[in-house]
Amino acid sequence: MRIVVLTGAGISAESGVPTFRDADGLWEGHRVEDVATPAAYDAQPAVVHQFYDARRAALAGVEPNPAHLALARLERAWGDDLLVVTQNIDDLHERAGSTRVLHMHGSLRSALCRACGSRVEWEGDLGHFPPCPACHRLELRPDVVWFGEIPYELDRIFGALERADLFVSVGTSGAVYPAAGFVQAAAAYGARTLELNLEPSEGSHFFDEARHGRAGELVPAWVDELLG
Ligand SMILES: [Zn+2]
Repeated sequence: MRIVVLTGAGISAESGVPTFRDADGLWEGHRVEDVATPAAYDAQPAVVHQFYDARRAALAGVEPNPAHLALARLERAWGDDLLVVTQNIDDLHERAGSTRVLHMHGSLRSALCRACGSRVEWEGDLGHFPPCPACHRLELRPDVVWFGEIPYELDRIFGALERADLFVSVGTSGAVYPAAGFVQAAAAYGARTLELNLEPSEGSHFFDEARHGRAGELVPAWVDELLG
């Protein structure tokens, strides 16, 4: 059985990672249009760098939760037939032990060169405009997909959805496309679909089955069922 798991902000929120889908519509006090668009970066690159540098530094203060750990445990048992697609830019899946993870919205642990297009692993800050390791120009930006940009890996993701027998959505609002459309794509290709979310998402009715509660409880229970 081939499984694709989509994860969103809800799974990271249970580790204490702040998300911009919180009630006030702000992301750590910032309007999304001020820190998550190409126009914002063009207008105020230092402000945008400061924001993502703080998010990257904050990763040191959070840990994977039982939902991340359960998905890593499933990968160890399921191997290549499990793919995790995440909308999250943190590294909690990797730190839990998952290796087959596609970051469709980019990663805080990566920098993107606007001059040569290189994507390089990155641990420290970018706000001091360090040179690109590949071309040495001072054009490194956060390797995060901003509003108005095309998500990464869509070909591989839709290829995996086409082959999937089971599609599971964990901690996603079902409001952000194209990820919100994955359930319908997977179903059209013949997969069974399951939602694991704190509350019914906007697309909850598209799923064959929906379970509502904390990811840290629902995901380990679901993995236990699979591994029987
Ligand atoms: Zn470069």
